[in-house]
Amino acid sequence: MPFSPSTALPGKAGRLLFTCAIGSVCTVVLCNALHRSHAPAIDKDAPAVSLRRSPAPPAPAAPPPAPARTTASATVDQTFSDAAQSLGIDQGTIATLTEAFASTVDLRRDLRKGDTLRVVYDRPQDDEPLAVRLTTGSSSHDVFLYRDPSGEARYYAIDGKSTKPPISRYPVAFTRVSSDFSLRRLDPVTHRWQSHDGVDLAAPIGTPVRATAQGTVTFVGRQTGYGKVIMLENPPPYSTVYAHLSRFAKGIRNGGAVKRGQVIGYVGETGWATGPHLHYEVHVDDVAMDPLTVDLPGDERLHGEERQRFAKEAESLSAAFNG
Ligand SMILES: [Zn+2]
Repeated sequence: MPFSPSTALPGKAGRLLFTCAIGSVCTVVLCNALHRSHAPAIDKDAPAVSLRRSPAPPAPAAPPPAPARTTASATVDQTFSDAAQSLGIDQGTIATLTEAFASTVDLRRDLRKGDTLRVVYDRPQDDEPLAVRLTTGSSSHDVFLYRDPSGEARYYAIDGKSTKPPISRYPVAFTRVSSDFSLRRLDPVTHRWQSHDGVDLAAPIGTPVRATAQGTVTFVGRQTGYGKVIMLENPPPYSTVYAHLSRFAKGIRNGGAVKRGQVIGYVGETGWATGPHLHYEVHVDDVAMDPLTVDLPGDERLHGEERQRFAKEAESLSAAFNG
């Protein structure tokens, strides 16, 4: 479920209130050698922004016609999506491009009327632009489509870095996972089945808690059960929750932007927690997932031959922007 303050209460808080009481109990019960193996790391194997695309049809016998490279531009009047739509870009590609730009531009706040969107196609009827340049004020942001040998297409920055903002696995240097994510578990107090929408990461009070991905603060404050809690909206489709904090970091406010790795608060035991730990949640399209195993975009970039091929192509596409 979404984690806006309005939807998180009161049912949610009531449930979590319970959850973390269990979490603390589980700190004692579940603490075992298996849990000690978790170490802070970034998942490097997760996929980058990608366009789902069926495999390319077999090549025709005759040599394909030389691609007719064309450019088109639109001026932003209302939203990025409107401007892209006016260029005939389909909704799926618009969503992919929105993600691709998310690491460099806040499309809701940084875009002004009169900013421009420029695209390069191989043919005018192509839905997938080969390159897109978004000019906001005096700065330009470019993304380039690259198709790997298997035919999968993704957008990359000119330096070959994936445009999908990376997400770290762990928000805190923890000593152990004191309670795992679970869809259903038996509450020892009420003898009812409850879910635990996140993981409890045990750490000493005052341990810095870092944003696992860039994002916008959607809630900072107290909630029953959660105690002092921060909720972040991260690059779509992700959002994250950090609960039981002892205090918030300076400058963390509702609607504010945070960077990946930025300290946003400190481990505590506020709310319904009987021992110091961070209760951490990851939501994908507003559905709680296991933070320890959920697929997360890593710090991806093209290497070797692919990188060279991409660089050549990106250079020629850049020239098309300027030409
Ligand atoms: Zn918990």
